[in-house]
Amino acid sequence: MSQPPSVVPASGDRRRHAAPAHLTFFHGPMDCGKSTLALQVDHNQSRQGRQGLRLTQGDRSRSPRISSRVGLSREAVEVDAGTDVRLLVRDRWAGGHRVDYVVVDEAQFLTDRQVEQLAELVDESHVDVYAFGLTTDFRAQLFPGTRRLFELADTVQRIQVEVLCWCGAPGLLNARVVDGAMVRVGETVVVADTVPSGSVDDTRYQVLCRRHHVRGQLGPTPTGPGQLALSGQQLADDEVSVR
Ligand SMILES: [Zn+2]
Repeated sequence: MSQPPSVVPASGDRRRHAAPAHLTFFHGPMDCGKSTLALQVDHNQSRQGRQGLRLTQGDRSRSPRISSRVGLSREAVEVDAGTDVRLLVRDRWAGGHRVDYVVVDEAQFLTDRQVEQLAELVDESHVDVYAFGLTTDFRAQLFPGTRRLFELADTVQRIQVEVLCWCGAPGLLNARVVDGAMVRVGETVVVADTVPSGSVDDTRYQVLCRRHHVRGQLGPTPTGPGQLALSGQQLADDEVSVR
């Protein structure tokens, strides 16, 4: 604005002429590696010298962290339904910190209002937002935060890491399993996730293909001939090949 009209801004000068920010939403079923991808995006951004804010709620570690099944973990700010995410960013600014981007894990739990606040950060403050969440709940219906992100995000991407049902078909839907049987009614949010079965109550989740979600079939055995059994076999094979 202060430049004479004859001066053309240098192309690619993002610091002085901020490129439009984006709201990007990555979604998938459980076990699809969304927390791993969230941490990877955070890592890639920070390597470019950008400063970010990581948000989560109800992470599997039960602490304010984003943690993944493959062992990666970083501290994060825990939000709840009453959190105004704009204020979290403004507090950082007030403390003299830059916030170039926000990574939100467990975004399926966001309220409509919080998704709208994220969109406002993108549009009014040029903060890039990368949100990661589950697509559907155990009833095969969109989570509220997921639905609002579908409505408002600039880009919506299904995470491409393939999770398999016990039958070998792509796993798309999350089943809630209580006392060994699939249930279809109950609270939307019961965070059992990676808590070992039986340690809190006997609720666990299992990813199924659509056909077996409809039929409520969890596989030939409680654990099924699933990925754990396969990876155990692969480990055994690796040990053999090392010798
Ligand atoms: Zn199946």
